[in-house]
Amino acid sequence: MNQLNNLNFSGGPGALPESVLLKVQQSILEVPEVGLSVLGISHRSDWFAAVVAELEGNIRKLLGLPDNYHVLFLQGGATQQFSMIPMTLLRGKTTPADYLHTGYWSGKALAEAEREGPVRVIWSGESGGFKDLPGDDELAYSPDAPYLHYISNETVEGLQFHRVLGRDDVPRVCDMSSDFLSQPCTAERYSLIYAHAQKNIGPAGVTVVLVRDELLEDAPTDLPGFLDYRSHIKAHSIFNTPPVFAIYVVLLITRWLLDEIGGLTRMAEINRRKADLLYSQLDNSDGFYRGRAKTKDRSLMNVTFNLADTDTEKRFLAEAQAAGFSGLAGHRSTGGVRASLYNGLTLAAAEQLVGFMEDFRRKQTR
Ligand SMILES: *Cc1c(COP(=O)(O)O)cnc(C)c1O
Repeated sequence: MNQLNNLNFSGGPGALPESVLLKVQQSILEVPEVGLSVLGISHRSDWFAAVVAELEGNIRKLLGLPDNYHVLFLQGGATQQFSMIPMTLLRGKTTPADYLHTGYWSGKALAEAEREGPVRVIWSGESGGFKDLPGDDELAYSPDAPYLHYISNETVEGLQFHRVLGRDDVPRVCDMSSDFLSQPCTAERYSLIYAHAQKNIGPAGVTVVLVRDELLEDAPTDLPGFLDYRSHIKAHSIFNTPPVFAIYVVLLITRWLLDEIGGLTRMAEINRRKADLLYSQLDNSDGFYRGRAKTKDRSLMNVTFNLADTDTEKRFLAEAQAAGFSGLAGHRSTGGVRASLYNGLTLAAAEQLVGFMEDFRRKQTR
């Protein structure tokens, strides 16, 4: 594989494994079982029904997901879920839903929920510049909230919850877009989990939604068909023309996770090793690299940091680019540097980046 693909630290769409890319490349010309390009196979074919069924089965197997959950493949990204969730669970309600405001993406989710019904922000990290996450003693959940919404991994700031939040008697709704299938997850503790594909599990264009059956019992009946989870459940994710290509790539990723990696416990070990490499480089740099997130809340997926000033950061990014690393510039809302270590990024790539950082620091501090 070319070096740029290998050293792609992009925050999203993110790097995908080489062995999967090779299969994708072949499928553009010909899916072996069908003899046609994946871009020209009908979503009404038996082949595609089998793709959806196998993918659903693989996700159930990877997560140990119980039978009372539906597995859906939707369009509109995580952003559409920011709206679909409150349309389904908050319209016409007088009791507010609980939301956490822990960074850039939860701010977007919150704004969309407020269009649909009452919302209570139970914790906000905004005044602190989103550098840490709340502890249990800072969270007073409402026992009568229609649901609790939070984001497991704040992709922009590099903050990740390393525990499950909420109360067992209030439905948990969680945006796992940037850490889905990166580690084992007690999915049965959530009523709804959503994650678009383009961070850890595929290309943009498809969003996975896992929803517990009883959550939809009292949903409004006058929603547009496309925005009603029940339409997609009834149609087995083929309510209209789905993103066949994106769904096929996600299937290949789940096969890779099961057959080549060996499951999510193994994937989590690899992801942990990559993050440990990066964080020990930050921690042992005598303040040359300054981690953005508080140590206890640092993300295993997005390592965010600053250098002494914006000039040094610019030089770091330019030299990194020249050395073959891509996607390291921080999000446009925060600046700085962000190294994203999604499933597809190899341990060897993380080692190479750490080597580069070590060299850069020595040159600057000599
Ligand atoms: C990238 C990201 C989003 C935005 O997703 P879209 O698919 O572009 O709508 C939402 N939430 C999280 C946690 C993200 O990382």
